[in-house]
Amino acid sequence: MSTNDPLTDSERIVLRADLDTLLDSLRRLLDDEAGLAETVDLDQSRMGRVSRIDAIQQQKMAQATLRRHQQRLERVEAAIERYDEDPEEYGPCMRCGEPIGYRRLKAFPDVVVCVGCSRA
Ligand SMILES: [Zn+2]
Repeated sequence: MSTNDPLTDSERIVLRADLDTLLDSLRRLLDDEAGLAETVDLDQSRMGRVSRIDAIQQQKMAQATLRRHQQRLERVEAAIERYDEDPEEYGPCMRCGEPIGYRRLKAFPDVVVCVGCSRA
């Protein structure tokens, strides 16, 4: 596997902006999803058993999605915090210390490990 170059200053600035964009869109998503995960009308007099099960499954899926997005939001916030504390800390793999690589970070600005470590 080829080793990645450390981030250049301009790449780092692009990624910092990507993190902000990601943070915004996750916050908007979570606003919408919070409502979906909460409100499920289980009024038994109005609903058949099958649609009740349906509604519960849909709610469970909505809650799983919500959790996934909440976890991602936390990762994005942590990445922003790390970057803002010291931009040099953003970029190297947290496990092996090698550069994660611009292309991987451009696709997933919140990752903290390189491809090799994520497979290990
Ligand atoms: Zn690594």
